[in-house]
Amino acid sequence: MKKKKRLIWQIYPSFLLITLISLMAVTWYASYSLRHFYLEETASDLEARARLIEKHILEHFNPPDEKQIDALCKGIGKHASTRITVILLSGRVIGDSADDPESMDNHLDRPEIIQAITGKVGISRRYSRTLEKNMMYVGIPLRDESRTIGVVRTSMPLISIDKAVKDVQIKIAVAGLLIAVLMAFVSLWVSRRISRPIEEIKKGAERFAGGDLHGRLPVLDSEEIGSLSETMNQMAEELQERINTITEQRGEMEAVLSSMVEGVIAVDVEERIISINHAAAKMFVCSPSKTKGRSIQEVVRNTVLQQFVKEALSSQKPLEKDIVLYSNGERFLNTHGSLLRDAEGNQMGALIVLNDVTRLRKLESMRREFVANVSHEIKTPITAIKASVETLRDGAMKTPADAERFLEITEKHVVRLEAIIEDLLSLSRIEQEHEKEEIRLSKDKVREVLEAAIQVCRPNADSKEVELALVCDEDMVANMNSALLEQSIINLLDNAIKYSHEKSKVQVEVTQTGSEITLNIKDHGCGIEREHLPRLFERFYRVDNGRSRDLGGTGLGLAIVKHIVQAHKGRVSVESTPGKGSTFSIHLPK
Ligand code: ADP
Repeated sequence: MKKKKRLIWQIYPSFLLITLISLMAVTWYASYSLRHFYLEETASDLEARARLIEKHILEHFNPPDEKQIDALCKGIGKHASTRITVILLSGRVIGDSADDPESMDNHLDRPEIIQAITGKVGISRRYSRTLEKNMMYVGIPLRDESRTIGVVRTSMPLISIDKAVKDVQIKIAVAGLLIAVLMAFVSLWVSRRISRPIEEIKKGAERFAGGDLHGRLPVLDSEEIGSLSETMNQMAEELQERINTITEQRGEMEAVLSSMVEGVIAVDVEERIISINHAAAKMFVCSPSKTKGRSIQEVVRNTVLQQFVKEALSSQKPLEKDIVLYSNGERFLNTHGSLLRDAEGNQMGALIVLNDVTRLRKLESMRREFVANVSHEIKTPITAIKASVETLRDGAMKTPADAERFLEITEKHVVRLEAIIEDLLSLSRIEQEHEKEEIRLSKDKVREVLEAAIQVCRPNADSKEVELALVCDEDMVANMNSALLEQSIINLLDNAIKYSHEKSKVQVEVTQTGSEITLNIKDHGCGIEREHLPRLFERFYRVDNGRSRDLGGTGLGLAIVKHIVQAHKGRVSVESTPGKGSTFSIHLPK
């Protein structure tokens, strides 16, 4: 690009040129007029002198006394410092103040003589070979009555005029030079005055262009520049306002997007990410700021979702699909895709909304699993009861011993069914009350609750000769629902006795730390393999199905314990060594 000149270097040279041309023109015209004036003055002076001499010469002209005339010329010429020449009509010189007339050539060809012979005043300027100088000649006709009888010519060297003109020219030139220097400064000052506000506006405009819209341009007196500054200031103000509005709107939009639980991804028609919110970035383990402009294939390593984006871009209707992600554990995403359009309705890309329904799906599958488990649990006793009833009807009833046996079997399974239903009911009651926050907690003595539970379990313990020991401060209190906590201790004690060897010991021990009270139920029974521990508190989870059923277990005891403790905002834990025993702990917040 051609380098742009600064405004001052466009204005200043023009100013300077105009000034110099004007000065030169004025100088030339002044010296021309002066020279013209001098020449005219000299011509009229020479004419006046010729007229003065004319009378004296005419006195000696009838007939012409050449000697007298020549002497007269020389006499007057010497005093008047003017060369005087008298010439006859034939062109012969008969008197001359500067030379010998005899030696002078015929003067008929001289322009001033030719003019004077015709009766006019002849004026001529030329180089005189006689005097070897530039001279001015004025010839007037010598008249005897009405007849021209000769010519009187006065002449003067032009050297004095030239000198005078040159003097004046030098003075004018010096003055002109001074004026030129002065004008150079003045024009520089004027040029600056014009260009400086424009430069300031330029700097201001550059600041505006650079994004700094807070500064304002100075408004000057000059109408055009002043209104230019005003207009630009107004423009900056409006721009600032618009930018503020856009920033505000964008902030609001980003706040809305980032606080959404659903993941939102906007892609353009080339599948590049325009925007991605925090929830979506978290789902795909990436940072929202680093993904902008990158393609969806780079960011989302899930072929089903990539395909879904393609379909959403080419479909006119909104789409929906369930997608499973495996990046952060198994996650189920209910995904909606629709076209993204700009204000004019043109397609900009697609909008993908991802709803994490993992919890919902897990709950659904838990519900399904639970129904299957309950059905399975109930099916066994019902089948057994049905078989016993059929056997009785088929004849066993008639034999008292058989009848007794099958009725015993039936009773055992009915008891079992009752236990399952009771456990299920209490589990669902605890869950419901917990959800509705209906479980009332109060500060009660822990020891009293533990003693009551031990009391309930003692017959079972005694039948196995298991010793029950309690270690707990008399006055230790905890925030609890005594009835529910008692039930959970009974469940744990019941298990501890069930899975203990005969004549062993079960300890109930309460410890206290800064933030919680821990109730430990420790047995020295069969213990539990490590792999079962994480799932132990799930409903219907058993380590050994057959053994648990034989011992009258429903597989719901620990689930009930967990729910009761959760209602107390506490947690349960278990430590166990196979063959050595287990310790189940309830941690209650203080
Ligand atoms: P159950 O009614 O079968 O006892 P629970 O929910 O109370 O059901 O217990 C789940 C399973 O945990 C039991 O089947 C048993 O295998 C195991 N378990 C519970 N308590 C103990 C314990 N003290 N010692 C060994 N195993 C236990």
